[in-house]
Amino acid sequence: MKKALSIILVLVMALAVLTGCGGGASSSDDAKTYVIATDTVFAPFEFTNEAGEFVGIDVDILAAVAEDQGFAYDLQSLGFDAAVAALESGQADAVIAGMSITADRQLKFDFSEAYYDSTVCAAVKADSTAASLDDIKGSAVAVKNGTMSAKWAESIADAYELELTYFDDSAMMYQAVLSGNAVACFEDHPVMAYGVSQGNGMKLLAEEAGDFATPYGFAVQKDQNAELLEMFNAGLANIKANGKYEEIVNSYLAA
Ligand code: GLN
Repeated sequence: MKKALSIILVLVMALAVLTGCGGGASSSDDAKTYVIATDTVFAPFEFTNEAGEFVGIDVDILAAVAEDQGFAYDLQSLGFDAAVAALESGQADAVIAGMSITADRQLKFDFSEAYYDSTVCAAVKADSTAASLDDIKGSAVAVKNGTMSAKWAESIADAYELELTYFDDSAMMYQAVLSGNAVACFEDHPVMAYGVSQGNGMKLLAEEAGDFATPYGFAVQKDQNAELLEMFNAGLANIKANGKYEEIVNSYLAA
């Protein structure tokens, strides 16, 4: 019995080492652990899979870049708006959350090189008869706080007499549409396209590029954390050159 217990203890400790739990004793004091904030539900960029693991293109890119550059980090899944607020207030060192690089945001944040191209879209319930924005004129729609897709909705709200309701995460926003409380929602196109392909019960209604074709970047506070930003850019270039980046993207999106 005693022996079985000690074997279990050894296994638990080995697991802790493997998963990086409680690694305080072995890490040196001067090595900084960066706090990096992300969204909660934004598949395929960050989401919890069926096995209960927090995964996604952003999650894997960050892991690969950190491994390549040898830095430690603590990834905090806060929600998009909350992640950006945490960065702005200095509670986080960086954000990786499918965050669009925009001129407005560049006033407050420094961005890495772009790592993924995105546009925005509107989506409705899969069984809706709506086929274009004209068909949702005068409707209640759901948008996500602080996002580019919400900005697009705001920019056409008058023309289409849209009544906007704001949600903190994509899951609640989709739920509003599925439950019929909203006729449509606005989202980043790669995220909605992935969701539709996974059978999320919705269909694409319209896509908007133009000013809303914004690539994703890793963000740090303006003129702060230049070291982290340089490491991210160097690591990103390396994983693009060695095929790791492509491998990550293809593991979520069929090539
Ligand atoms: N790309 C969008 C933006 O930056 C949405 C990001 C998100 O919802 N995680 O506004």
